[in-house]
Amino acid sequence: MPPTATIGILGAGQLGRMLALAGYPLGMRFRLLDPALDSPAGELAQQYAAPYDDEPTLTGFAEGLDLVTYEFENVPVAAARFLEALVPVYPPPAALAAAQDRLVEKTFFQRLGIPTPSFAAVDSYEDLERAVAEIGLPAVLKTRRMGYDGKGQAVVRAPEELRSAWQMLGGQGLILEGFVPFTRELSVLAVRGRDGATACYPLVENTHRGGILRRSVAPAPGLTPGLQALAEEYAARALDALGYIGVLAIELFEVEEQLLVNEMAPRVHNSGHWTIEGAATSQFENHLRAVAGLPLGSTAARGHAAMLNLIGTVPDVAPVLVLPECHLHLYGKEPRPGRKLGHITLRADDEATLLQRLAELEALVSG
Ligand code: AMP
Repeated sequence: MPPTATIGILGAGQLGRMLALAGYPLGMRFRLLDPALDSPAGELAQQYAAPYDDEPTLTGFAEGLDLVTYEFENVPVAAARFLEALVPVYPPPAALAAAQDRLVEKTFFQRLGIPTPSFAAVDSYEDLERAVAEIGLPAVLKTRRMGYDGKGQAVVRAPEELRSAWQMLGGQGLILEGFVPFTRELSVLAVRGRDGATACYPLVENTHRGGILRRSVAPAPGLTPGLQALAEEYAARALDALGYIGVLAIELFEVEEQLLVNEMAPRVHNSGHWTIEGAATSQFENHLRAVAGLPLGSTAARGHAAMLNLIGTVPDVAPVLVLPECHLHLYGKEPRPGRKLGHITLRADDEATLLQRLAELEALVSG
């Protein structure tokens, strides 16, 4: 496929925006499908504003495209499969299906011999009592589908909290997970090309606030070659099992030098935004290279990077931009509580300088 490919993206959020920004220098063109108007990527490419499962729209959308990819993992799998009959779709829709259901996802990793928190399916209150007897407390009750940014889940610390957790979430497919006393949360971003070549970025340390990613530091402070190798081995197993093409993000809990998989996202990921300035090739460019059948670019870090999400409000940008090697990314979204409006990436040659600049930045950014 020539680099001048026209790529359809399902979803037109900030990830689609950053994909397009990475693809234009490569000569790529983009077409978007997203039911939401005023979308961050909509300013950059032609957008079809229609439901994802509208087949006549999908047919028109696919016309003349070289391939379709996605930036949103809750696209209906049926829509991805419908498109697959018309045009290549990468990553494979099977990866979407696995990532959309926490039970299927955890079972997938378990089958590959990759550790996860202990888990059990919960479809009734009796199931929940049985799962608690098996897994123990504390535990986390989650919806199997459509959960993101900590939504659709409840921590159960004591037996008397079971009823209220059930009342809050019952009536849909659930999963109970053992509560992991993790040291920290990490993620690995891996990419696999059409020729099966794979590469991984250095592990990222992630900090959440209110269930939303607040901050990423890469490479994760104190990262050992052993931990990186373990993450890469798990990622390679998942990529190969899925016949994956594109960027895959895997969120991990670190517990005593071990890694447990929390979840995966079959797309570019918020914890990889630092790669735009902090790696030799950004996750966005590497995703596009992978799906277009081009050689992958180096995933090596350029020194050390930190990314801070701007959630709900945007700070006064002038004092922020005064910081050395500071890069502002705004997504063109209307401010709303809990909404990701942009991010800021800092880069430095050494970790101590990075962390010092990060402290200065955090003092300027509230929310
Ligand atoms: P999730 O939507 O599954 O990514 O969960 C959102 C956040 O909740 C995670 O980033 C963790 O901080 C926390 N969390 C989720 N599952 C567990 C678990 N099994 N044990 C401890 N914390 C968890």
